Amino acid sequence: MLFSKFFTYTSKDIPADAKIASHRLMLRAGMISQTASGIYCWLPLAVRVLEKITKIICEEQDKIGANRVYFSTIQPADLWIESGRYDDYGKEMLRIKDRKDGDFLYSPTNEEQATDVFRKYVKGYRGLPTMLYQIHWKFRDEIRPRFGVMRGREFLMKDGYSFDLDFEGAKATYEKVFKAYIKTFRRMGLTPIPVQADSGAIGGNMSHEFQILAETGESTLYYDKKLHTASDEELMHIFAVTDEKYDPKTSPIPEKELMVSKGIEVGHIFYFGTKYSQPMNAFVLNNKGEKIYPEMGSYGIGVSRLIAAIIESSHDDRGIIWPEPVAPFDVTILNLHTNDSKCTQIASELYEKISSVKEVLYDDRDMTVGKKLADADLIGIPWQIIVGQKKLEAGVVELKNRKTGKIEELSPEELIRRYCA
Ligand code: ATP
Ligand code: MG
Repeated sequence: MLFSKFFTYTSKDIPADAKIASHRLMLRAGMISQTASGIYCWLPLAVRVLEKITKIICEEQDKIGANRVYFSTIQPADLWIESGRYDDYGKEMLRIKDRKDGDFLYSPTNEEQATDVFRKYVKGYRGLPTMLYQIHWKFRDEIRPRFGVMRGREFLMKDGYSFDLDFEGAKATYEKVFKAYIKTFRRMGLTPIPVQADSGAIGGNMSHEFQILAETGESTLYYDKKLHTASDEELMHIFAVTDEKYDPKTSPIPEKELMVSKGIEVGHIFYFGTKYSQPMNAFVLNNKGEKIYPEMGSYGIGVSRLIAAIIESSHDDRGIIWPEPVAPFDVTILNLHTNDSKCTQIASELYEKISSVKEVLYDDRDMTVGKKLADADLIGIPWQIIVGQKKLEAGVVELKNRKTGKIEELSPEELIRRYCA
């Protein structure tokens, strides 16, 4: 991609309401454009990151046999009246009338929709267990949208729904998703902290939130120090709760073994039994021909919030530092002197060759050296190849690591060999 053709406009101005680093940096890097409070347009740089995150999520969901769908975003109120949630959901739900005065809504979540699709197709126990998921826009009319895309009104979420024949099956599915989520977040360069969001009583509800440590997080976490060294297997059972659930009098962990940190909730999984299958009459027949209401769970990841969470956990005072797996491009080539024919020739050649193996953003814009270097650090692509007059006279270009700032000097041929060999 040529930067001169790439719809990305960086800026120094930040609105006063942009209080946290991720919000400021997303605006400065030209990733989002606000439409209304809590509603954003996602611009090309951000779309590339959303797609990287999406791909990682889908790969891990595939591995556990989940089926990707798109539920409709606009849904009839009747579906929610059936489950009994239409009135309870309150003002967070955006309610819409169609031209025939019918009641509709823009989905804030999809337990009802998933249950409805399930009951239309699955009639017998052989169809179980099964899991549907989507990555799609949600609308929740949050009372206080804030921190940019961290708490938006329109936001992108992965939401999954599982159906099992009995509690044991549902529990096994829940654990499978739990582990897949840990892997998913780790692949994005994050350290997830799974927090017990419910009592976890057998037969009751199970629920975990996945939190990312960040000073700007809205949650306060109390967790066992052991969590940082625990295996994936152990993670599920290590003590970790939010402040609303923490009580020093009943805590199983002595205070000196506890860590207290701020966190950002990036995922939430929930087992809720027959809460929807029963009222919506979504039954299957078991092998004895008896009616069974599937045991369900739902599993959410805040895809658009994750972008902000990743930036909160990986930036410095110059800009974003993308972890490689979610970076919008693998490498950026900076042609510092576009009016110098040698620089342009070498930079173009590097661009052409490296593009065949990596995603490259070639900064061919006619701008000052300072602006180009500052933009590259702001946008945060993990590797920068810097092509400048002086270094080229000595036969080298620079390869800079955005995270460490370390610069290596290489001949253009060596660089091509390194990438393309
Ligand atoms: P919160 O407590 O932050 O409002 P929630 O419990 O309402 O979250 P869920 O219904 O579990 O959220 O949604 C699944 C995931 O979607 C959350 O873990 C979060 O990452 C993300 N999410 C929820 N609300 C928003 C929002 N308003 N903006 C961006 N992401 C959100
Ligand atoms: Mg909420």
